[in-house]
Amino acid sequence: MLIDLSELLSTEHKKQEYKVPVEMDTFNGSNGEYKFVRKEPVELYIENTGNKDLLIKASIHVSLNIPCDRCLEDVKNDFDIEVSKKLDIGKSFSELEDRDEFSFIEGSELDVDKMVYNEILVNLPMKVLCSENCKGICNRCGANLNTQTCDCDKTELDPRMSKILDVFNNFKEV
Ligand SMILES: [Zn+2]
Ligand SMILES: [Zn+2]
Repeated sequence: MLIDLSELLSTEHKKQEYKVPVEMDTFNGSNGEYKFVRKEPVELYIENTGNKDLLIKASIHVSLNIPCDRCLEDVKNDFDIEVSKKLDIGKSFSELEDRDEFSFIEGSELDVDKMVYNEILVNLPMKVLCSENCKGICNRCGANLNTQTCDCDKTELDPRMSKILDVFNNFKEV
C-alpha cells in the first residue's frame, strides 16, 4: 500500500498513525521465493518534527518459511523488527532517492511493502538450519537423512575407484 506523505511533508508538527496490511504473499530471496506464514499489519507512526525531519517509525511482525540450508525443509523464521528512521526533508527528493535506506519512498509516497521487503532483506539470517544437527540430504539419492536412511556409499571416493585411477596413472608413466 502507498501512503501519501504530502500533507505530513508540508505541515510542521503533524503526526499520523497507520495500520497497514502487508500485501505481498511471497518474499523474493536470493535462493527463490519464500512464503509468508504470518503477516501482522504494519504499525506506522510518522511525524514531521518541525526540524526539517520526518520521523518514520514502524513495527513489522511477519514470518517466512525459508528452506533449511542442508535438508531443504521449510523453517519458519520470525521477523519482529522495530524501524526508526529520520528522513531529512530539507533535501530534494532526487537526492534522497539515491539513498538505499529510503528507496521505499518515491516522490511523496511511502511504499509499505517495499519498506517491509528492505527490512527483511537486511535481517535475513546468514544461515538457516532446521536444527543444529540437521543431517542434510544424501548427495547421491536425495533422501532426507533426518527421516530416512539410505544405503549409498558416503565415502568421498570409492576405494575401488581410486585403485582404478592408480592403474590409469601407472599407464601414463609407461
Ligand atoms: Zn535441515
Ligand atoms: Zn542415498
